Amino acid sequence: MAERRNITGSLRFTLTAVYTVVFTLLLVGVSLLFRQTLASNLTQQARDDLDQNWAIVKAYLRIDSDKGENNFHPVWYYDRNDPDESSVVAGVRSVILIADAGGHPMEASANYNALGLDKVSDIRDVLASPQAKWFDKHDAHGSPYLIRASYITAENSDHKYYVAIGLSRADSRKLLNQFTLLILGLIPLVVLTGGVTGWIFAGRALTPVVEIARTAQRISGSNLSLRIPVRGAGDELDRLIKTFNQMIERLEVSFNQARQFSTDVSHELRTPITVVRGQLEVALFTAETVDQYRDAIVNSLADIERLSQIVRALLLLSQAETGQVVLQRQPLDLIEVVENVVDQFQIPAEGADVTLECACNVARCVGDFDRVQIERMLSNLLSNSIKFTPPGGRVKVSLDRFGNEAEIRVADTGEGIPPEHLPHIFDRFYRVRGPGEHASPEKGLGLGLSFVSWIVRAHGGTVQVESEPGKGTTFIVRLPLTGAVPTPIESPAELMKGV
Ligand code: ADP
Repeated sequence: MAERRNITGSLRFTLTAVYTVVFTLLLVGVSLLFRQTLASNLTQQARDDLDQNWAIVKAYLRIDSDKGENNFHPVWYYDRNDPDESSVVAGVRSVILIADAGGHPMEASANYNALGLDKVSDIRDVLASPQAKWFDKHDAHGSPYLIRASYITAENSDHKYYVAIGLSRADSRKLLNQFTLLILGLIPLVVLTGGVTGWIFAGRALTPVVEIARTAQRISGSNLSLRIPVRGAGDELDRLIKTFNQMIERLEVSFNQARQFSTDVSHELRTPITVVRGQLEVALFTAETVDQYRDAIVNSLADIERLSQIVRALLLLSQAETGQVVLQRQPLDLIEVVENVVDQFQIPAEGADVTLECACNVARCVGDFDRVQIERMLSNLLSNSIKFTPPGGRVKVSLDRFGNEAEIRVADTGEGIPPEHLPHIFDRFYRVRGPGEHASPEKGLGLGLSFVSWIVRAHGGTVQVESEPGKGTTFIVRLPLTGAVPTPIESPAELMKGV
């Protein structure tokens, strides 16, 4: 069923949304900061201008009184023929209020009148303070002005007179409004462009992830050979792809092993079942006497015994494969185990006319081992050696110790193993067949060496084989002793590799 795609729930959407929100917040923050800086710079500029105007006021304005009278009034002293001075003074006087302590205006420009005259209480505050007072005023149209209020003292008197000068801030306000409009228009545009770019880039960056998901969906037990191509960018996604491919590879190996295993098992079970069936059918149709029936049943029983052996061995192998066989490790002297097993094989060896020798070249060889499994491993190696050594031959088991490692060699003077078979003899059901020779039940199940390999690996050791056809075979098992770090076994499948 096609998966319904929910865009808002996608990683691409989340990435783009987070990026856009953060980007917008940053942009708004920076714009506000910028606007704030611009506003305070403009205010500072206006204050500087008014301070300069105040210097002009102090230079050209006197509060004089007519002779003999106590009637003070403002007088501007400047050269009226000098256009520069005239324009400077006119500029200052365009927004000015001069008032006495009672708040009566002595000079009020039209502009100041439009702003409304100052209250008496405010005028008295200014006259009482040595500091200039700054405040904002607005005319009837809402146009803003910055006002600097201070006082000057009358000539030859200690009377203080209120002088407020102002500066229109309309231009500053216009500039700020234009800036605000500009950022209000630009921010959505920039955010939109950023969002679309983020969406495209997030989509591109996540393409391999989508690819991985698609491939993963297509992979099933039958097409595990699928791999995602590595892009060669060497980034996190390439590492993800590599890890994913490696995982599929391991799965493929495990699947193949499982498939091979079931093929082998059905193949191995089919032959004895067919034989038993044939024997019973023949007996049913041709046997006449009780002895003939008995013979058929005895033969069938022998084959059924072989079937049970296979089933038992397979059960144990599958238990080992799924990690159900846990080693019962305990301190064990390998000398004792080797000598015991060799003793047990003396009688079969004699029966096969094979000389069996044991040479333990160390005084002590103690390690943490599972006694049952080590005995099984030695038994498998010894029974093979005796089985594949012709009468008159010899089998020698030796034990040595090299540092923290015990070395067990099982060497025989038997038929040997042709080199082309050596890489496979630890595989399940693998048996070496001579030219024209068919698998003969007497020669074994082909599982013995698989067990040997598993047991050795489970103990953290290694097993090797050296063989020369016609001269003999030597199996060399190396096992770490107490204190040695066992070779880590990654997984049950790994444990069974080559078994
Ligand atoms: P089997 O039960 O057939 O012995 P194994 O897994 O123990 O199965 O051995 C696999 C094959 O390796 C044997 O069938 C035999 O051909 C060969 N092999 C094992 N040990 C020896 C040996 N000591 N000398 C010659 N061939 C051997």
